Amino acid sequence: MSKRDYYEVLNVSRSASKDEIKKAYRKLSKKYHPDINKAEDAADKFKEVKEAYEVLSDDQKRAHYDQFGHTDPNQSFGGGDFSGFGGFEDIFNSFFGGGQRRDPNAPRQGADLQYTMTLSFEEAAFGKETDIEIPREEPCETCHGSGAKPGTKPVTCSHCGGSGQISEQQNTPFGRIVNRRVCHYCNGTGKQIKEKCSKCSGTGKVKKRRKIHVKIPAGIDDGQQLRVSGQGEPGKNGGPPGDLYVVFHVRPHDFFERDGEDVYCEMPITFVQATLGDEIEIPTLHGKVKLKIPAGTQTGTRFRLRGKGIQNLRGYGVGDQHVVVRIITPTKLTEKQKQLLREFADISGQVPHGEQEESFFSKVKRAFKGD
Ligand SMILES: [Zn+2]
Ligand SMILES: [Zn+2]
Repeated sequence: MSKRDYYEVLNVSRSASKDEIKKAYRKLSKKYHPDINKAEDAADKFKEVKEAYEVLSDDQKRAHYDQFGHTDPNQSFGGGDFSGFGGFEDIFNSFFGGGQRRDPNAPRQGADLQYTMTLSFEEAAFGKETDIEIPREEPCETCHGSGAKPGTKPVTCSHCGGSGQISEQQNTPFGRIVNRRVCHYCNGTGKQIKEKCSKCSGTGKVKKRRKIHVKIPAGIDDGQQLRVSGQGEPGKNGGPPGDLYVVFHVRPHDFFERDGEDVYCEMPITFVQATLGDEIEIPTLHGKVKLKIPAGTQTGTRFRLRGKGIQNLRGYGVGDQHVVVRIITPTKLTEKQKQLLREFADISGQVPHGEQEESFFSKVKRAFKGD
């Protein structure tokens, strides 16, 4: 079943402001709220509206959606840079500083991981499935993630009483200031390990290489990234794991160049082919294709091979291949060839020029005269 476009769901334009999106959401969520609307499909509509709003109200998710549309819920795409690889909690902490650190025992999302993958031009065009191995931290099996030697347990930190932070009062001319900082005895965990697990040295985590199966969609381009949700570092205190971002680097091709879904190439032809016309073979990503070069083709003429480009990442059709012909001026000529060309020039001087030639040469003449 195909999903409706989120902008269509909220009935707003693609350039709608955050405010407009919010207003549209309020209006529609009221309209379809299952408590108010008893129609059979109201609950589904309500869900659809809610989902659309969740994406379009979030700048990063909206940007991803604008670029890639609906995708497999387990694999979504992003493009360009992102501001940070930290999970939400890490960003939260960096915003508010250590002083506002939350309960050290609260669930925290694991960190996101980044993996760079180099693809050939063709692999990016057609996609592929592959296994990647990423080193990531996993809970230590010996101590089950506690960091304490088996048979022992971490104890509440005696310095901070388990809060993970230490408050200090300071008297200043402006009054009393309370300073909070992370307890450095327990590094903010609120726990102390008396006897450390020997396997993980008390960290509770071990580095492991983990094999992950990745489906690279056809049409992925250089610099784009694939989010594999839940394959980042494990969460803490029962929090969800982070995500894995696979960033793609696409190697350039010897013959093809790419711009979005379109492929460009330059094809050398002889001046005889250009003058008399010919049928030539052009390599494409989809195999060889015959192209008719009409008689009188000029250098730089562009031909379009429809549907011979790259598949759209969102599945909206296939791009074209553009062939630009370059006429190669011969450099090594035999005496006989030279003689024939001189004869050709002689004869050409006696016959009227073609229309195109006439206008081109008259332009050149005008340029010399300066008018
Ligand atoms: Zn351990
Ligand atoms: Zn402490």
